Amino acid sequence: MISATAISRRSFLKTSGAASAVAVLGGLPCSPLLAGPTASGPPDWVDRPMRWAQLTLVEDDPGKFDPQFWLDYFKRTRSDAACLSAGGGVAYYPTIVPFHHRSQWLGNSDPFGELVAGCRRLGMVVIARTDPHATYDDVRDAHPDWIAVDADDKPRRHWASPEMWVTCALGPYNFQFMTEVKKEIMARYRVDGIFINRWDGSGMCYCEHCRENFREITGNDLPRSSNPQDPARRAYILWRQQRLFDLWRLWDGEARKINPDSCVIPNTGGGATSSLDMRKIGELAPTLIADRQARRGLAAPWANGKNGKEFRAAMGRKPIVGIFSVGLEEPYRWKDSVQTEAEIRVWVADGVANGLRPWFTKFSGVLHDPRWLRVVENLYRRYAGWEKYLRNEFSLARVGLVYSQQTAWFYGGERAGPRVEDHTLGWYQALIEARVPFEMVHDRLLERAQLTRFKTLILPNIAALSDIQCDQLAAFVQRGGGLIATYETSLCDEWGVKRKDFGLADLFRVSFKGRTEGPMQNAYLRLEHETARGHLLLKDLADAPRIIHGVWRLAVEPREKFPNPPLTLIPSYPDLPMEKVYPRVTQTDQPEVYLRELEATVAGRLAPPNAKSEIRNPKPTGRILYFPWDIDRTFWEVQCVDHFKLLRNAADWATNEDPPVTVIGPGVLDVTIWRQKESLTVHLVNLTNPMMMKGPIRELIPIGPQKLRLRLPAGMRTRRIHLLAANKSPAARRDGQHLSLTVPSILDHEIVAIDVD
Ligand SMILES: [Zn+2]
Repeated sequence: MISATAISRRSFLKTSGAASAVAVLGGLPCSPLLAGPTASGPPDWVDRPMRWAQLTLVEDDPGKFDPQFWLDYFKRTRSDAACLSAGGGVAYYPTIVPFHHRSQWLGNSDPFGELVAGCRRLGMVVIARTDPHATYDDVRDAHPDWIAVDADDKPRRHWASPEMWVTCALGPYNFQFMTEVKKEIMARYRVDGIFINRWDGSGMCYCEHCRENFREITGNDLPRSSNPQDPARRAYILWRQQRLFDLWRLWDGEARKINPDSCVIPNTGGGATSSLDMRKIGELAPTLIADRQARRGLAAPWANGKNGKEFRAAMGRKPIVGIFSVGLEEPYRWKDSVQTEAEIRVWVADGVANGLRPWFTKFSGVLHDPRWLRVVENLYRRYAGWEKYLRNEFSLARVGLVYSQQTAWFYGGERAGPRVEDHTLGWYQALIEARVPFEMVHDRLLERAQLTRFKTLILPNIAALSDIQCDQLAAFVQRGGGLIATYETSLCDEWGVKRKDFGLADLFRVSFKGRTEGPMQNAYLRLEHETARGHLLLKDLADAPRIIHGVWRLAVEPREKFPNPPLTLIPSYPDLPMEKVYPRVTQTDQPEVYLRELEATVAGRLAPPNAKSEIRNPKPTGRILYFPWDIDRTFWEVQCVDHFKLLRNAADWATNEDPPVTVIGPGVLDVTIWRQKESLTVHLVNLTNPMMMKGPIRELIPIGPQKLRLRLPAGMRTRRIHLLAANKSPAARRDGQHLSLTVPSILDHEIVAIDVD
């Protein structure tokens, strides 16, 4: 087995010290954190399933639930893969691994085996679900060191099932015991894969193994603070990942020794705030399951599609599956509840439109509320009919929204939600409203080959960037790319340590003056219509002399002249008492947006448009737009339409090209555009709903008509144009590279499918 010392302390320190941060986070292949992927290639089956079913049994299911009911349901839904409960906390087969707890209701039965055999008869891919996060008194008595320990050195009882114990994820319980469980499941049932749920621990563990292993590798005691600038915390963030990647590799290797055409699929990953490095995950995983089952708190239905975009940024063309729950989630976890048909349909549609293959999950083999069955059956049968148009090759989006785990880990820390993610959410909402197809981009995947499909990159307060990443972004602009950045973007290095000036100061041509202002009450922006007349940034704002400012701004100083800025500062003035609420200053010459335009030279050297240069390629032109304030975060908080217009116009100005698709009509739509082997599709997901921003959608409200204008890739010939949901072929007009058509109405999800040569 792999021990903590599989990587030496020296090599870990080499990569966790700030001096060689690049080796860890810049992605040099020699770093331990980014050690090569598993030797084996992807199993043959991974790209086959398009519709997944998950049945998670509860302990008293054996003998009570009807396996045949579920097998019939899998068949009716045309599900082509299943994830079934096997073992871990409860074994649903007659295990002989010591301490592997058989269901008390198991008797002589083997419900897991019965379901596996049934699914095989249906020709389905089958993976086994294991969950190692909790165990029992007998384990605790025999192996007290397998149990997680809290900060007060006390073994941890399970928070929801207090007769159980929380296990340590990074010690022998997982490395030894769960390895034996996986080997037994694979040897007996030869499943296609093993899904590992809640495998990465339940918070900090201070057990003897964690303490000793951490000290051995990093030289530190386990951190007691959550401050990412504490060296022990920083080392822990990396060490924990290293342990988990070791564990994943161990399990995957053992499973493949028994069944080479299998793999272990960890339930992991996500966006900026996820704790395991997505770049590394993208290298290791042949397929992955995005686990965002339903809304929680303030979550628009596009949150499901966002998950798909985040995973794809690291996974590329590899299949990504999206788990959806048929019930309510929220912190209270009503696992046996059922949502409305409308909510399930829109949530799943947004995932599918964003490249996720749907996976329904149901807990308990005995149904307490059957209302969802028909909904999912109809949905799956619909998607089965559309299957060839859902096998995407790549997205045709030209705009990339960058996300940064290192910014969340080392700059955001415990406040990564408001400090990091809220900026992204603001941009996300704005791009949805603007109907701009876009992808997400991982900040450590900025090499040239990874960016060629993008015209514009948006950096929503991506504060922590290494010098190398800044160089990569500069090179992108040199090649003619557009770049939009907000607030503290690049003001810290990759460890979240503040720089004196922006890492991108050369690109912005703006320097940080060392001061942050905020939270600002009652501050405004003056729109300079006279001097910046007709500027694209002010589109649809012609009647506004001024608009609201954000909440936080940086004091910055231009390094060169920025003539005729479209936005200038009207400083904050008292908001009480009302008699005192009058502007002390109505006009300043302080720009609140910095725009630059650069012509790319053939040699690739950055040069201002009027500079003398011997060889010049007049196109493409790189454009840079920097807001030294939190426009995106404020938009997420306040949702002022003037900020929306600025964000939309900023994206248009920076992109500066004919978009791949425009959709004009009423309502809110998530628009995505895809290429398949023999077709091109535009997905239109109707998010228009009074309940959209929290997501408890009661009814589907049709919208239309929507006028589409597509820019087809050069030389593409179209054969047949079809609206899949309406099941109609619309009249279309071809004008050179452009194709225009009208979609009369959209209920939840329409796909314009164009067969092409
Ligand atoms: Zn531990």
